[in-house]
Amino acid sequence: MASIELRAVEKWFGTVQVIKGVDLRVEEGEFIIFVGPSGCGKSTLLRMIAGLEETSRGQILVGDRDATAEPPSKRGLAMVFQSYALYPHMSVRDNMGFALKAAGEPKDRIAAKVEEAARVLKLGDYLDRRPKDLSGGQRQRVAIGRSIVRDPTAFLFDEPLSNLDAALRVEMRYELAKLHQSLGSTMIYVTHDQVEAMTLADRIVVLEAGRIAQVGTPKELYERPANLFVAQFIGSPK
Ligand code: ADP
Ligand code: MG
Repeated sequence: MASIELRAVEKWFGTVQVIKGVDLRVEEGEFIIFVGPSGCGKSTLLRMIAGLEETSRGQILVGDRDATAEPPSKRGLAMVFQSYALYPHMSVRDNMGFALKAAGEPKDRIAAKVEEAARVLKLGDYLDRRPKDLSGGQRQRVAIGRSIVRDPTAFLFDEPLSNLDAALRVEMRYELAKLHQSLGSTMIYVTHDQVEAMTLADRIVVLEAGRIAQVGTPKELYERPANLFVAQFIGSPK
């Protein structure tokens, strides 16, 4: 587990600035959610934390380490992609063990890590199935399982539930909350869905056009929105 800190972080695509000086400290074990309308910079900020997008200015710290210039593989963070990114021709077991196998880990260690992750994710009975023979929720858990086996210091999620139907989204919200409880890991989660943010987050970061409009607990944001933008986005009675 690790804290993650952003210091005066900026992102420029050519002459266009899309992240405009973001300061934020995510505490160890915290479930933090970035919300905001489409195009406000949520994915870009998450990808910068993951190292998939270069940071134009400012610093990104993982624990006490300055990770700003580190490649993704050095940061120890796991970006969880949507469930459709699973390998269709591989079993659940092989999907979950893939990264460890690619890293040259010994077979018995891979097997042990996969078994452990399957237990946490309640996928023990499904290890020999192919993704197509799983429900949407089970597939999403396999996608998370692929990250868990690598013991990441934090999980990064970019709209992981956006391609699921409404009923499954509600079920997966509950699953993610339980998972956060059992792992106790730092989680940074991006969504444009304010209900998802209000139900899952320890703290919410509201982004507006590349800037933080407000950071606070769901209750704080709801009861004391900093401005009209936050109030309207969260749906406060203001
Ligand atoms: P969100 O995830 O909140 O919908 P994004 O982070 O994807 O927003 O995008 C923020 C802004 O940055 C948008 O205006 C988008 O068009 C722009 N953007 C994202 N990626 C690139 C890129 N590779 N090149 C140029 N502009 C980009
Ligand atoms: Mg996005």
